[in-house]
Amino acid sequence: MGKRVIILRYGEIFLKGKNRSYFESLLIKNIKYSLDKLLGEGKYSFNRSQARYSVEDYDEIREAEIVDRLTKVFGIHSLSVAVKVPSDSEHNFAAIKEVLKPLAEELEEENVIKNATFRVTVKRADKRISMPSYEIAAELAGTVLKYTSFKVNLKKFDYDFEVDIRETGDAYVFSKVIPCAGGLPVGCSSKGMLLLSGGIDSPVAAYMMAKRGMKLVAVHFASPPYTSELAKQKVKRLRDIVEAYTTHMKLYVVPFTNIQLAIHEHCPAEYMITIMRRFMMRITTKLAASQECKAIVTGESLGQVASQTVESMTSTESCAGLPIFRPLIAFDKEETMDIAKKIGTYDTSIEPYEDCCTVFLPKNPAIKPRMERVAQAEQALDIDALVEEAMKNIEVL
Ligand code: ATP
Ligand code: MG
Repeated sequence: MGKRVIILRYGEIFLKGKNRSYFESLLIKNIKYSLDKLLGEGKYSFNRSQARYSVEDYDEIREAEIVDRLTKVFGIHSLSVAVKVPSDSEHNFAAIKEVLKPLAEELEEENVIKNATFRVTVKRADKRISMPSYEIAAELAGTVLKYTSFKVNLKKFDYDFEVDIRETGDAYVFSKVIPCAGGLPVGCSSKGMLLLSGGIDSPVAAYMMAKRGMKLVAVHFASPPYTSELAKQKVKRLRDIVEAYTTHMKLYVVPFTNIQLAIHEHCPAEYMITIMRRFMMRITTKLAASQECKAIVTGESLGQVASQTVESMTSTESCAGLPIFRPLIAFDKEETMDIAKKIGTYDTSIEPYEDCCTVFLPKNPAIKPRMERVAQAEQALDIDALVEEAMKNIEVL
């Protein structure tokens, strides 16, 4: 009975006036990328009529997976799974009623709302049907009344049974609206380079920036043999999870061992972390230029650790040639953890592998490093040579 169709609605990109077609083409590209990745090319069809998108002709067994995937595509505001039937107006909308019956019964069985109210909303673009929309709605409401205990209330309703009769004579019938990720389509806000550690914060930072349309390339600093192959694989898995939101995110791995050893050997222990982070910024800035990234993104949060004080961040920032975005700067750890759980990165993030930052951790890191002292301490190092050597051995995952 009827064919199942996923209707997609987009939100904020409506506001963008002249840019609208650009935003839409990005959104469509991202939707197709996600579904191609999940199902394979040609395993569904994507349709667009005016301001409406729909996904059709998919394997219905995989519908829940498809819906889950689509809820993660930024730019989609909400979706509904509808059943598409002929409007069948000559037979008093018999086909639509046949769809409404199980929809209504399902909601009745869920029984989540006591004394539930409903309305039927009809949109009638097919002008061959002479009956006005409100009369069609009244006719269809009879079906809901027949199979449920719900009462009609046009203004204050718990359920809205929507019937969208298109120009083609097809009717799309649905009752549930599933909220999606919102935000802007990835790619509309330029490209940034994400510092991706194995921790909880940086995957969440990726999610936050992608939500505002930033395309990301990731860079990870590894210090083998102090950090293991398993630690690297963990970062790769985090990347794979977060890609449901960011779309494809290239991952670069920079060998950091020699730099850490050099700092450890030649610089005061209290500046270890600051100097290390300054190297990360230098290398990231160079790599960003080669990838046309225009900003750096980190998971830093004010006051979380010694390296995340205003003074520490000022000191590292002076080595970055690009603006640094820190979307979690004012988040409590709990708030970040909640998002990590929601986006599915949390369980992987808490797996206990060493990070390069923890390997050479000094007992008493400088909490408020003085810039001139740090710069002076760095003079013991051949900065350019160390950066160049690391750049030469970068690996792409
Ligand atoms: P996270 O949970 O993201 O690892 P954290 O609480 O461990 O953060 P730090 O280790 O101080 O905090 O790192 C702060 C930020 O610096 C991280 O969010 C990440 O953006 C970046 N960073 C830290 N270590 C690495 C690394 N090994 N490779 C790439 N980026 C890193
Ligand atoms: Mg970390």
